[in-house]
Amino acid sequence: MPIINEKIENALAVFSFGQMQDFMTMHRVMSENDISIAELEGYVQNEIARPGAVVEGPQKQMPNCPTCGEQLAIQGICGKAKKKQNVNGWKSLWYCPAKDCTYEAYSRRIVADEIKALSNK
Ligand SMILES: [Zn+2]
Repeated sequence: MPIINEKIENALAVFSFGQMQDFMTMHRVMSENDISIAELEGYVQNEIARPGAVVEGPQKQMPNCPTCGEQLAIQGICGKAKKKQNVNGWKSLWYCPAKDCTYEAYSRRIVADEIKALSNK
């Protein structure tokens, strides 16, 4: 086994493979939106420190892709991130992280509202 694999498996043993995949998706979305790990850390710390903050237990179940069944991911859309004009006023995009799947669903709600709506189901 290559040393790098062993290193990762030892250091990240507490995380499930799914969590690693989630992290990679998250990391990619963060890069695309120019958000650093330090900024995310600051955000999380602030949220935890916020009075009345509800620190969630288990992660919310993301909806599954209607095409292939993979768990969908969501990203925010800001006008300047897209080359073509965002004439429809889309605020977020559900997309399928599966390699061979091109499922996308646009929403006029921001990411936070989409996530909130999930828990009301
Ligand atoms: Zn899919």
